[in-house]
Amino acid sequence: MQKIIRNRIKCNSCGAVIESRTVHEFVQCPCGRVYVDGGLDYLRRGYKDGPDDYIEMAEVKKLDLK
Ligand SMILES: [Zn+2]
Repeated sequence: MQKIIRNRIKCNSCGAVIESRTVHEFVQCPCGRVYVDGGLDYLRRGYKDGPDDYIEMAEVKKLDLK
């Protein structure tokens, strides 16, 4: 189980860092190759060619289930 602190990626084409802050906030980078979605509920990524289109910059915190 993990808690999402920041949902963001960096585009390898235009260098923009994009971040989704709320669950339905869909954010695309200026060059349009990658996007993030899901806010702090889930990490959704989209890309044009493949996962190498972006650098993962999400911050997540692992939760201990006791
Ligand atoms: Zn871009």
